[in-house]
Amino acid sequence: MKGEIIAIGTELVCGRVKDTNTFFLSRELARHGLEIRSVSIIPDEESTIAETLLEASGRSAFVVVTGGLGPTRDDLTVKAVSRAFKLPLKQDPVSWSLLKAYAEKHHLAMGENVKKMALLPEGATKLDTQTPKAGFLLEFNHRIFYFLPGIPAETKELFERVVLRDLLNRVTERPLVLTKIIKIFGLREVEIENRISDLLPEFRYLSVSFLPCFPEQHLHVTVKGARKQELRRELDEFVSRVSDRLGDYIYGYDDETMESVVGELLKKGNYTLSVAESCTGGLIGHRITNVSGSSDYFRCGTVVYSNEAKVEVLGIDEELIRKHGAVSEEVATAMCSNVKKLGKSDLAIATTGIAGPTGGTPEKPVGTVFIGIGLRDKIKVRRYLFEGNRHEIKTMTSQMALDMIRRGLLKEKKK
Ligand code: ATP
Repeated sequence: MKGEIIAIGTELVCGRVKDTNTFFLSRELARHGLEIRSVSIIPDEESTIAETLLEASGRSAFVVVTGGLGPTRDDLTVKAVSRAFKLPLKQDPVSWSLLKAYAEKHHLAMGENVKKMALLPEGATKLDTQTPKAGFLLEFNHRIFYFLPGIPAETKELFERVVLRDLLNRVTERPLVLTKIIKIFGLREVEIENRISDLLPEFRYLSVSFLPCFPEQHLHVTVKGARKQELRRELDEFVSRVSDRLGDYIYGYDDETMESVVGELLKKGNYTLSVAESCTGGLIGHRITNVSGSSDYFRCGTVVYSNEAKVEVLGIDEELIRKHGAVSEEVATAMCSNVKKLGKSDLAIATTGIAGPTGGTPEKPVGTVFIGIGLRDKIKVRRYLFEGNRHEIKTMTSQMALDMIRRGLLKEKKK
């Protein structure tokens, strides 16, 4: 029993808005063992919508449609349903009374656009019977159609609260699905595959997909079957075997991010951190403070982009910059040492490099980056040559810096 998703919106087809609804719906449906045969993105055109709905009614058991349910002229989904399935539009009493109550409460007139919102194809049922939010369910040709509003937050809310439950009640024959995302940094896709591919034949219910998610690699592991305990055992066993093979290249699982894992390690070990950034322009500080509760361990971040700022804010010796250049091991060491003192922190990280596309030299080409880490009384600086555009070099540098903290703290833990 396979389903499909149809996202309606000219702005989606033209690339003006990213289709996040499909991303969300596909993931949630797959998570519940509900298989999707296709996804379509179509413009706000009555004939195209009607055609696509008709095709869907001939091939899919369930169809989730988003968008085009609003009160404006370009919202054509309801009209297209009526045209495709030859169903007259009727005023839905539930929608009408909810819209009326809403209008009265907010002193709004019941104009033509509001009346339009209460029109549903004959046989349709409003999904949300508590609020005037658009969205309805329709059975046609023994297929079930869910029409949801386009606004992502509304799609999500209605799907989670009403649609999923309804769908799961109808689709009784579906496999149990358990998933785990293994997050890896520092190994290429082929290197991961070479290390783990021989394990796969040993697992009966398991499938693995590699998703490069720059600058990381994500391994999506899925087990599908009938018996939960058996699936759980198989998933845990696989994850543990992969973990033995990949070791510290695995930084986390599922919703964890590099910065959340680093934050957790800092918090658990009672460490504080300061950051001095040049080529990353504040990206490391931004990522660290994306984690709620980071004030427990993050002391300060300085963006010392110009040479003057390096001297004036961090007290770097001008002579050191003149002699070795701002992008050098010596300056990275000084930045690290001085920001550690400035922040009175246990740990410090510093970045200086050439993010490009200009500024490279034969000795220090674009992508040359020095990252310094200071822990206890020691400062260690590593030189890297990253590839990619400016954004990629900045992202990679911030990731490597966070990973250096993570690895440094893991080593401390083992001592
Ligand atoms: P409204 O009542 O606001 O008109 P609607 O159901 O008619 O809602 P649309 O008008 O199609 O929905 O879209 C509303 C907003 O949601 C727009 O900003 C649109 O770009 C956005 N949107 C629509 N579909 C998607 C989608 N698949 N992914 C992400 N955003 C979307």
